Amino acid sequence: MKEKVDFSLVIPVFNEADNLGELIRRCLLVCRNHGGSFEIILVDDGSSDGSDAMISQAAKTYGREVIGVILNRNYGQHAAVMAGLAQSCGDIVVTLDADLQNPPEEIPKLLEEMRKGFDVVGTIRTSRRDSWFRKFASSLINYVVRRTTGVMMHDYGCMLRAYRRPIIEAILQCREHSTFIPILANSFAGKTIEISVAHDPRLQGDSKYSLLKLISLQFDLLTSMSTFPLRLLSFLGTIVALCGMAFGVFLLVMRFYMGSVWAAQGVFTLFAVLFVFIGAQFIGLGLLGEYIGRIYQDVRDRPSYFVSQVVTGEEKDGSVTSLETARPSTETHSLIRE
Ligand code: UDP
Ligand code: MG
Repeated sequence: MKEKVDFSLVIPVFNEADNLGELIRRCLLVCRNHGGSFEIILVDDGSSDGSDAMISQAAKTYGREVIGVILNRNYGQHAAVMAGLAQSCGDIVVTLDADLQNPPEEIPKLLEEMRKGFDVVGTIRTSRRDSWFRKFASSLINYVVRRTTGVMMHDYGCMLRAYRRPIIEAILQCREHSTFIPILANSFAGKTIEISVAHDPRLQGDSKYSLLKLISLQFDLLTSMSTFPLRLLSFLGTIVALCGMAFGVFLLVMRFYMGSVWAAQGVFTLFAVLFVFIGAQFIGLGLLGEYIGRIYQDVRDRPSYFVSQVVTGEEKDGSVTSLETARPSTETHSLIRE
């Protein structure tokens, strides 16, 4: 079995050959200076520019400090991070991007916060160095996520984040294919905090996200957090149907006051009827959505709750015993399925 380390870095890499040298150099420097045992896990996500060979070489050169995980093709950033998390054995796991937009020099700040007992440390990018389109799309999505999940994090897009081991174990128990790790982690986290970190322009190359890939990522994000978009259908339907009914009543009343000419010989009435029917269809769709949402939740098979400690009062002196002291540490945090 792999020896435990104090912290692991997990970095997804897709065609980042121009950045890898600098990335590994800066990460090693930061980790060695910080103290404690560590591992840097570089996950090659099916690169075609020789990144995989560079990662293998680094793993051979730096021994235990660098671990390479090579995927056989491109699966996407979050799948690559998942593969890295599965290999990690740090008590704390920090994820970051390979293009050096997240400066590795910020990692000690996150580790410092983790020492205060948080499960997840998120980050807010100060003076974000991306295009206005990316910034706008990101703030819109962050707003929707905040409103629908109720988790008051401001920047879900920044992958420079730290997670405690039990949260990683919880994430790894989830078998879903399309996922968005920061949201998934937050669904298991009790104590979270966000800190400000610097954000640099990409060191070399272009973003690995085309517009299509970006849209697909936003859908992963929306669907991974909740079945809220499905519920929106019933909500919209109810509003349309209510508007139609109100319109119908309005027409009826006005018809008596103003006579048949005012009602355009019944054309308006048709509109009111149409509104009610369209609304009813939406409500029907929404109801179907509710069922599909429940099926979706069951298929994803996420753990339905997460026990971090069991406390008993069985000791003679009356003090509480936590699993942490009563059992081997591997059993401290257990995930229990329904
Ligand atoms: N990435 C990946 N697989 C992909 C796309 C991206 O592993 O299919 C990695 C990429 O190498 C980088 C991180 O994910 O380390 C973030 O990608 P990028 O910087 O292109 O995203 P952006 O900063 O434009 O959101
Ligand atoms: Mg980037």
